[in-house]
Amino acid sequence: MANMPLSQTLVDLIEDAPGDRTAIVLPEDGAKVTYDSLRRQVQAVADHLAGVGIRRGDRVAMALPNGLPTIVGFLGAAVAGTAAPLNPGYREEEFKFYLQDTDAKVLMLPPQGAEDARRAAGDRMPVVSISSDADGTLHLGGDASAGTASAPSADDIALVLHTSGSTGRPKRVPLKHGNLAVSVRNVVDTYGLSPDDVSLCVMPLFHVHGLVASLLATLASGGTVVVPAKFNALGFWRTVRDHDVTWYSAVPTMHQMLVARAKGGEQPDAGRLRFIRSCSAALSPETMALMEQAFGVPVLEAYGMTEASHQMASNPLPPGSRKAGSVGPGTGVRIGIMDAEGRLLAPGEHGEIVIQGPNVIEGYENNPEANAASFSNGWFRTGDQGFLDDRGYLTLVARIKELINRGGEKISPREIDELLLTHPQVAEAVAFGVAHRMWGEEVAAAVVLREDATCTEADLLAFCRERMAGFKCPKTIHLTQTIPRTATGKIQRRVVAAAYAGQPA
Ligand code: AMP
Repeated sequence: MANMPLSQTLVDLIEDAPGDRTAIVLPEDGAKVTYDSLRRQVQAVADHLAGVGIRRGDRVAMALPNGLPTIVGFLGAAVAGTAAPLNPGYREEEFKFYLQDTDAKVLMLPPQGAEDARRAAGDRMPVVSISSDADGTLHLGGDASAGTASAPSADDIALVLHTSGSTGRPKRVPLKHGNLAVSVRNVVDTYGLSPDDVSLCVMPLFHVHGLVASLLATLASGGTVVVPAKFNALGFWRTVRDHDVTWYSAVPTMHQMLVARAKGGEQPDAGRLRFIRSCSAALSPETMALMEQAFGVPVLEAYGMTEASHQMASNPLPPGSRKAGSVGPGTGVRIGIMDAEGRLLAPGEHGEIVIQGPNVIEGYENNPEANAASFSNGWFRTGDQGFLDDRGYLTLVARIKELINRGGEKISPREIDELLLTHPQVAEAVAFGVAHRMWGEEVAAAVVLREDATCTEADLLAFCRERMAGFKCPKTIHLTQTIPRTATGKIQRRVVAAAYAGQPA
């Protein structure tokens, strides 16, 4: 399976639906975009990018909120070159890193705002402004002579994203058109998506969860995707009913926000909803039960990661049985459990989750150490720990890789240590995750100040907020004389985390 030739591109995925069908609905504007219009506008963006000199493999960075410009910009960039979507919430220093690391040749931004991204681009690269009006027509700014982008092939890199590494430096993940197309097909098959389906996209479109599951799987099945600018628990069920939404995918934090409102007395009418998908962080069996009770539809937990072009496993729709606490069987992806020596383990035995399939990357870009550590005997090591049961259902039990999963957003604690250590009054810093009711995990840090230091916790929090996207910033900083250590005197994050949680490590 790992060596199956890749055959499809993102262009192929959106090619078949009848031209007059609605592909995208922008609920705030009331705009509807047909498949015909989508295909034309994607080619127009690709041609525009070709006009500014973008060639196959050139990276087109973008920092855009969810909306039509993001979708068409992403697809157009993947046709002309390689799309490199970035979190629009990053601060200037973060944008500088990502633009440089991806070697971006151009940056797509909204016509107004996005000041941090604009400053980071400076005069190092042209900025193409991209916006849309209320009838779903896209507008592109910037100088471009007429260009023509040729069709990509399945082996071309459509998308580069970053994943948090165990060092402060994120790893660059190149996803080919063919990898993405396979993953999209797996999602379509798992949930039997059809042209009758309407998905509600509440996940950000700079991450594989939103791009592959909510957006591309819907477009590939000829359905309609409803794309609000952001998740809003308040108007959520009205949007579901107004647009005849049949399913949505989200992180557990969003599901919990909806459950909290339902518990407050607002029992929603779920309209045509036929299932809810949860992915990117652990869904507790309690939340799953409360959701099924309150919303009256099956809740299917899935398991995804960027390096697998998103989905690896999912609980099936009825009549298949779903197992609370498990992420279900592999979905077109082979899943094994491996020990530290590279041996595959039997059902029930705990070890590292490893995967194989044409959706999985062949390697990180420009990172031989990460590649050597991540592949064993033809399997990709996920850095997650778990076990398979006799039916092939996978359960995650822990993480080997060092990251904080805050409501599905992955944060490298090292990156926070490194930022805190650049503060002139900080001598030692260790960031760690703490359990949080709504986010799953939240970021905290322990800091030892230099002698005679005068700064306070609030000063350090403000220092982080100026230099880092809000979701990564520690919410608590413990100023201390010494960092808690293991019995042998080593600093280990889990020991530090346990000391502040008042628990044994
Ligand atoms: P990302 O690359 O941002 O999609 O993050 C991938 C990681 O998210 C996985 O390696 C897991 O650690 C975590 N993850 C994804 N889905 C789940 C899930 N259903 N339960 C627990 N963790 C998950």
